Amino acid sequence: MTDAIETKVVENKDEVLPPPPPARVPRSIKTWSENKQKYFYKPLDPAYTMQHYYKHKRNMECAICSSVVTTQMHKHVKSRRCLLVKEAVQKTIENLQCN
Ligand SMILES: [Zn+2]
Repeated sequence: MTDAIETKVVENKDEVLPPPPPARVPRSIKTWSENKQKYFYKPLDPAYTMQHYYKHKRNMECAICSSVVTTQMHKHVKSRRCLLVKEAVQKTIENLQCN
C-alpha cells in the first residue's frame, strides 16, 4: 500500500510543472471625466458598464432647486428651470447681506 502511494507521489512530481503566470488583462482603463473633473476607472466590458449603470440608476434630487432629476445632473444644472432658482437664491442672499 505505502509503496503504491509513494510511486504516485513521485510520478506527480515529474508531471507537475509550475504553471506559467496568466497574462494580466486590464478590466478597466483610467479615464478623465469631464463632468466630475477627476479620473475614474472605466470598465472595458460594455456589458458590465450597462449593468452597473442600471443597477445604480435612480432619480436624484437637485441640491439647488430640490426638484427630482431624471436626466443627467450636469445637464439639469445648466437648464433654465434650475438657473432661475439659482438666480433667485443668489438675489435673496445678496439682499440679506445688504440689510
Ligand atoms: Zn436644479
